[in-house]
Amino acid sequence: MQVYKTSIRQGDGSLSYQIYNNERMIKMHEGCSGSFENGKQVVDKIRMMGFAKQPMIMPLDIKCEECGEEFTMETHEGKCPKCGMVYGVTPCHAFDPKNVMAAGKDY
Ligand SMILES: [Zn+2]
Repeated sequence: MQVYKTSIRQGDGSLSYQIYNNERMIKMHEGCSGSFENGKQVVDKIRMMGFAKQPMIMPLDIKCEECGEEFTMETHEGKCPKCGMVYGVTPCHAFDPKNVMAAGKDY
């Protein structure tokens, strides 16, 4: 499946992002593009923005940093079924498993 990412400079100078594939499109604003120091910040952000329980544009297969379990992130917030480590990724970065960050067990 191909996923496209484009950034668009708007009239007021702010940057908006579009991520889309054949099925769905997500339109984001600059707030989403910020970098995060740790997974807790990511999870806080996606919970605040309401993305945590929303399905990913494409589910990502990730490997748990803690226990090595491989599982699929189907929503922007995911939890390792084996050890309970919580993971988060912002919609703008949800195209690459490298961007999924661990927030902590049962965070
Ligand atoms: Zn685990």
